[in-house]
Amino acid sequence: MPDAILVTGGAGFIGSHVCKALGSRGYVPVTYDNLSRGHREAVKFGPLEIGDIAHQDRLRDVFDRYQPIAVMHFAAFAYVGESVAQPLMYYGNNVGGSAALLQAVIEHGPLPFVFSSTCATYGVPERMPITEDHQQRPINPYGSSKLFVERMLADLGVSHKLPWIALRYFNAAGSDPDGDIGEMHDPETHLIPLVLMAARSGQPVQIFGTDYDTPDGTCIRDYIHVADLADAHVRAIDYLIRGGRSGAFNLANARGYSIKEVIATAERVSGRPVPTKIASRRSGDPPVLIGSAERATTELGWKPMRSDLELQITDAWNWIKTRNR
Ligand code: UDP
Repeated sequence: MPDAILVTGGAGFIGSHVCKALGSRGYVPVTYDNLSRGHREAVKFGPLEIGDIAHQDRLRDVFDRYQPIAVMHFAAFAYVGESVAQPLMYYGNNVGGSAALLQAVIEHGPLPFVFSSTCATYGVPERMPITEDHQQRPINPYGSSKLFVERMLADLGVSHKLPWIALRYFNAAGSDPDGDIGEMHDPETHLIPLVLMAARSGQPVQIFGTDYDTPDGTCIRDYIHVADLADAHVRAIDYLIRGGRSGAFNLANARGYSIKEVIATAERVSGRPVPTKIASRRSGDPPVLIGSAERATTELGWKPMRSDLELQITDAWNWIKTRNR
């Protein structure tokens, strides 16, 4: 019987791509998801157990049944704006839910634990590229909720010898190169899918601010292909299973692109014009975010392979074209 890995939030964008990567490396990814934001049809690579991370009896039942050798934790709310409007929803689910999950993880092991964290834990960067030792001062409840979980992991590493890794993603983009799964946020708030939807529909995409102190006046972000993220997760779990050191790793491309560069690339890839509308700045947006992933390269042997911007946008476009929206 191949080893099972419990994947909370395995029906979501990044979780489903990680399930595919785990399946192709011979693990059984067991998705545990309440389907509040995930999609049943994205669970294609292992069993689906519907449940909430806060529901401990249900979690214990799933742990007892599948006896996972490790846990990957994606289940969380992940909209910055929503977190500002409804902080308790974020602290309740992302922090409280993670505490309940970790209780089960400790009771059943402790088991190696890989956590889906974010560059939003850094807040406004003081130097670039951002390395893992940069101070973490999140500027919204979403980032704070992820940072609290990182702190819980560090504490449990001391108290219960929990082996853990927090992967801090920069801007996840792209889609499964085979077209089996892709990005399906509702509502969609991310730049690349919105730009491609504008290419498809002819309805303008908003550019949030053209007066930033950047070469073309628009924000610069570090986009990283979801298939590269998935590969890093498998490496992280293998590393912990081999007895690797607990800690945090950035997952980034170490290369930034402006909103206008994203739009120009999307026009090239789709062969269609992208209508735009200039809007005011979105609050909480730092002008530039670029990460260093040297630690992941050195310790996990990871390197982004599909994170050329044109390739990321091509994979996202191929996915969006197949969907009816
Ligand atoms: N953005 C934009 N228009 C949109 C959505 C996003 O101009 O409709 C900008 C956003 O202000 C940021 C960049 O695109 O500067 C990336 O935003 P996204 O929401 O994709 O990711 P984030 O950086 O917030 O994680």
